[in-house]
Amino acid sequence: MTDMTRDSSQLVIASNNQGKIAEFRDLLAPLGLTPVGQAELGVSEAEEPAVTFIENALLKARHAARETGLPALADDSGLAVDWLGGDPGVRSARFAGENASDADNVQLLLERLHGVAEAQRTAQFHCVLVFLRHAEDPVPVISHGRWEGRILEHPRGEGGFGYDPVFLAPEHHCSAAELGRDEKSRISHRGRALRGLMASLQAPGMHGNPDA
Ligand code: IMP
Repeated sequence: MTDMTRDSSQLVIASNNQGKIAEFRDLLAPLGLTPVGQAELGVSEAEEPAVTFIENALLKARHAARETGLPALADDSGLAVDWLGGDPGVRSARFAGENASDADNVQLLLERLHGVAEAQRTAQFHCVLVFLRHAEDPVPVISHGRWEGRILEHPRGEGGFGYDPVFLAPEHHCSAAELGRDEKSRISHRGRALRGLMASLQAPGMHGNPDA
């Protein structure tokens, strides 16, 4: 795995989402790391065949690390509804079908919960982040953020994406789509997972960059 020609600060982000890549770039720069999106390095999108967020995040990170020889960071996230045994889970983006829109997924979720009482509509957003120093790293750095809430009966709010309009943020008495971006980041599954990961990576020697 030792490649003396590569830039030792580089890190591959196992995502094609430009928003996520930009967010990671801002957060990781102070650690002396230079995140690069996997597409820029010619990495194909990995399969996500597993039934848990953590397995999928690990698979994505390992795939990117193996193809580039660089440390890799991957995430996997979604919604788990207690009444549905954790569904839509890892299938959150394609709950209503392979090319389903956010509106299709929300509609199907509301149908599945039709008639279910408020107290039984509990749910959590989850975000798992995995950092690998190299493809065979036996001790991945893993951070899991969760956000507890409840599924509303009708969509509310215009902001956010995905299931935000039907996810009640109980501490704010509004839907996730009614929260400002900064406030959502402060309390969301993704914000919590990111802060957890940053804390772990700040420990000396954690991110495999001897110069940082
Ligand atoms: P991914 O992590 O970008 O693959 O997200 C998977 C899917 O989970 C998204 O397409 C959304 O349906 C759902 N999801 C994940 N995070 C959020 C969120 O913060 N709000 C609403 N939906 C989310």
